[in-house]
Amino acid sequence: MRTTPIDNILPLLSKVKQRQPGQWSACCPAHDDKGPSLSIRELPTGEILLFCFSGCGASAILAALGLDFKDLYPPREPSGREPNRYPRLLTAGQALELLETEARLVAVAAANVLHGVMLHQPDLDRLTQAAGRIAWLREEASALGAHRHD
Ligand SMILES: [Zn+2]
Repeated sequence: MRTTPIDNILPLLSKVKQRQPGQWSACCPAHDDKGPSLSIRELPTGEILLFCFSGCGASAILAALGLDFKDLYPPREPSGREPNRYPRLLTAGQALELLETEARLVAVAAANVLHGVMLHQPDLDRLTQAAGRIAWLREEASALGAHRHD
């Protein structure tokens, strides 16, 4: 029986939950994850995209699972072309989802300040983290763009 990458990866993860067809969430194996921070997406080609909302890189996630980048791709068809093996870490939709979450956080903090609610050090740390995540997304997006010109 031929197995697809998703069949190999899902049993290795904990708290796996299907969110919609082709998309799952699970605990990230690369950090001490309380809630499911890991998004797993199966593309129509069978290729898997992994994205940790806490910022773990795909290589760290794969290492924690004992897998390699090639495990994210379906076996090559005998007649097929060599698939594009550049490891894409997130889809545009996932990037926007993360941006939306971080933007909402900043808006909530701003509303709190407006209403005279004191922000504390953890709030400030979280806001700094939001800025860091957005900067990381920009780097990620420009890395993808640069690769496409190869
Ligand atoms: Zn993680």
